[in-house]
Amino acid sequence: CGVFGVNGVVDAANFVALGLHALQHRGQEAGGIVSHHPEFGFNSARRMGYVRDNFTSQDVMDTLPGALSIGHVRYSTTGSKGNTAIRDVQPFFGEFAMGGAAIAHNGNITNADALRRELIERGSIFQSSSDSECIIHLMARSLQKGIPERMEDALRRVEGAFSVVAMTRTKLIGVRDPLGVRPLVLGRIGDGWALSSETCALDIIGAEFVREIEPGEMVVITEDGKIESRRPFRQATSRFCIFEHVYFSRPDSILGGRSVYETREAIGRELAKESPVDADLVCPVPDSGTPAAIGFSLESGIPYAMGIIRNQYMGRTFIEPTEHIRNMGVRLKLNVNRALIRDKRVILVDDSVVRGTTSRKIKEMILDAGAKEVHFRIASPPTAWPCFYGVDTPQREKLLAATMSEEEMRQHLSVDSLKFISLDGLYRAVGEAKGRDAGCPQYCDACFSGEYPVEPADMIAQGFQL
Ligand code: 5GP
Ligand code: SF4
Ligand code: MG
Repeated sequence: CGVFGVNGVVDAANFVALGLHALQHRGQEAGGIVSHHPEFGFNSARRMGYVRDNFTSQDVMDTLPGALSIGHVRYSTTGSKGNTAIRDVQPFFGEFAMGGAAIAHNGNITNADALRRELIERGSIFQSSSDSECIIHLMARSLQKGIPERMEDALRRVEGAFSVVAMTRTKLIGVRDPLGVRPLVLGRIGDGWALSSETCALDIIGAEFVREIEPGEMVVITEDGKIESRRPFRQATSRFCIFEHVYFSRPDSILGGRSVYETREAIGRELAKESPVDADLVCPVPDSGTPAAIGFSLESGIPYAMGIIRNQYMGRTFIEPTEHIRNMGVRLKLNVNRALIRDKRVILVDDSVVRGTTSRKIKEMILDAGAKEVHFRIASPPTAWPCFYGVDTPQREKLLAATMSEEEMRQHLSVDSLKFISLDGLYRAVGEAKGRDAGCPQYCDACFSGEYPVEPADMIAQGFQL
């Protein structure tokens, strides 16, 4: 998911709409905006679908007045999926002591089932099936006086990954979990402030990037622009999601002082060093494989070519009416550039292999177009474990790498070769020169290593085995 908030600007909701539009890659299912105006109070609009289709009309934006606003773009990892999910669209808003608050959450709460049961037993009335709603109920029940203090109280009970942007009637608040699994950055716009999942959304509103919110940090920003930094949690070693570098973040964002694009190019270079192959062309699987393919080409000297073209107008919310059309899935989105591919030995670079269904179809398309050989190079290690911290991976059994060795996967995809970057190579590419095991890992890499930095309590209760 993506979160964004701004204060101290006229018609703040318009800035939030732009910010969310720049964060659309983090969640295409739905979006929502809450604003506050001293006269009109809290207002909210939550809609299924893209930001550009919902938050550009004057009719909708006129209902969101005020100089303080937050928003969220949703990608479902918990709660309901599909088009009946409007009740799970954030921000969540609740009125309780001290005037209430709205929150937008990116991440995944790993003890949400247990918290929800406890809260319902004590009388909380849940409106959604989302894990994030627990935070509002915990805040409402807290005995602390101020809302930021209630939020500290609430978040100390919550386990897992959370980057939260929240607002009261007057304050804008940003918090990252103690491990800082998901990103959150601070920007300056005029006399106001902005909080965003990624820096690319600061760029779109002309805000200046100030710094990242630190793991375990809470910032409370007042109406008159004062900013206060707090440390509500026990100190921990940070474990940022390494997959943000590989896939999730936008290539024009800056993470940990590094351009995501440059990191991805470095991943491609590492791949070329680790797993070279003689071939005629390096082709990305668009768009997620593109920077790594460029890096692979630069390092190997094998020409880069756009052998697969993506239809820019194909969104994830495209209506897929029948099973037959659903099976055509990738063909609706990707097509082979036949003239380039015929009689060539092709290296395909993609960011990850999850179920392997996309990879298989792409390989068939490339062979149909007359390629002589197909070599897959993957910009992440084999995804053998599900993510419980806010990226929607399928159950372990559905992950190709959970049940197959690299050679078995190669046979399953029936390609001439298949190589993944090593975990050490990935660490080198993100700037850890000594690789992963030189010190304690400085990233979360659980989906590759199975080493979960936060115990996934709810999943273990459901029978998941580490
Ligand atoms: P597969 O071949 O395993 O079916 O799909 C791999 C493709 O899924 C890759 O091209 C990658 O870009 C994409 N992918 C990786 N992670 C995610 C994710 O969390 N959500 C979605 N929708 N796609 C993903
Ligand atoms: Fe990121 Fe993977 Fe960790 Fe999930 S399990 S937070 S995707 S590194
Ligand atoms: Mg992809």
